[in-house]
Amino acid sequence: MALKINIIRGQNQIGGSIIELYTDSTRIILDVGMNLGESKLHTSVPDVPGLFKGYPIYDAIFVSHYHSDHMGLLKYVLPEIPVYMGRTAYRVAHALSKHQGGKLGFRPAFLDAEKPVTIGDITVTPIPCDHSAYGSFMFLVSSGGKTVLYSADFRSTGRSDFDALLETLPEVDVLITEGTTLSRGLDFHEPSEQELEDFAVETLRAHKGPSVVYLSAQNVERIITAYNASKRTNRRFIMDDLTSTVAEAAGLDFDAYVLRPSHSFADLGEIVSTSMHGRESSPYPAVSDKKAFGSPDFLLCLTPQSLINFRKVAQRSSFKDSVLFFARRETHMLKPATAAFIAFMESLGAVVPTLHTSGHADSNTIDRLIRDVRPSVIIPVHTELASWFARYEDECEVIYDCHDYEV
Ligand SMILES: [Zn+2]
Ligand SMILES: [Zn+2]
Repeated sequence: MALKINIIRGQNQIGGSIIELYTDSTRIILDVGMNLGESKLHTSVPDVPGLFKGYPIYDAIFVSHYHSDHMGLLKYVLPEIPVYMGRTAYRVAHALSKHQGGKLGFRPAFLDAEKPVTIGDITVTPIPCDHSAYGSFMFLVSSGGKTVLYSADFRSTGRSDFDALLETLPEVDVLITEGTTLSRGLDFHEPSEQELEDFAVETLRAHKGPSVVYLSAQNVERIITAYNASKRTNRRFIMDDLTSTVAEAAGLDFDAYVLRPSHSFADLGEIVSTSMHGRESSPYPAVSDKKAFGSPDFLLCLTPQSLINFRKVAQRSSFKDSVLFFARRETHMLKPATAAFIAFMESLGAVVPTLHTSGHADSNTIDRLIRDVRPSVIIPVHTELASWFARYEDECEVIYDCHDYEV
């Protein structure tokens, strides 16, 4: 039974990934992503009968990680089609969605690392990889003696050992790999999370004031970076409500506090109502803003969701000689609300260094993956510079527009 690959969407673009693999008897989908920049109100759902409409013809959907450009269309999928997703990834996605008052709209069967799942005559093995989404997987797909590795989104700069990952990967017939960073130039090099942590420690040692890390709660590895830096500099680690919700869902064993703004200020009613959520069982003890900000030896994790409330409390406190680590992509600094927040912190006396690294592989890392799995065919996806892969054309076939390719 021949195994065929069809990139439905997301080959020569970043995001919106939908990949189909099929034989005569089995059809599976890897990721059902929303296009980047789209929202719940404006979503383009591709015309795929049997997946989004009509009679279901797909036997399973496998989700590599919880970013919306990989699972954002799950709610449009025909409900009869089973969804498979990593346990931790699902927990974090569920917590994020619930916190924002939404619903994920699907219930997956859980994938465990390196435990193969067989659907008809196709077997899928989830392989843990590092990315800016926690609990991400690559997928090794095999059928009829042929093997395909789908890298999904990955990087070598996280805490997990990339060499050890390469050792676990077999040689494959086809590599479907991301190339997100390639359009940023060949000299593009990203620091590792460990380097970020060391930089944060050095910076915190040079500033005695209270400090804040502004991050996306989805980026669990960055929360860990901040936590480690706080421990190494003997600061109390305090999380806002969303960060703590995610840390709990990810199962992070932190000696940390959740900020629970005090009830004593009438204008903090809004904070109290948005931060309770009935989660009395949080593993992290609550600390009131008065107590938290009473002495400057803390590092506070803040997400965009708590900025307004934080500002109300911060302007009553001293932020002399403090640090605001900007732990998101620099392009976020241009957003008016973010720019206003940075200006506000600077007016309180904070310095504002960035504390960020990409969630994606640089060109050197992609080279290492290719040399390790020695594919006969490379199918670049999730990239705006597929032509970068032309350098491999002497060694293997590169498919830039993949429709029903037979492995
Ligand atoms: Zn992606
Ligand atoms: Zn991603």
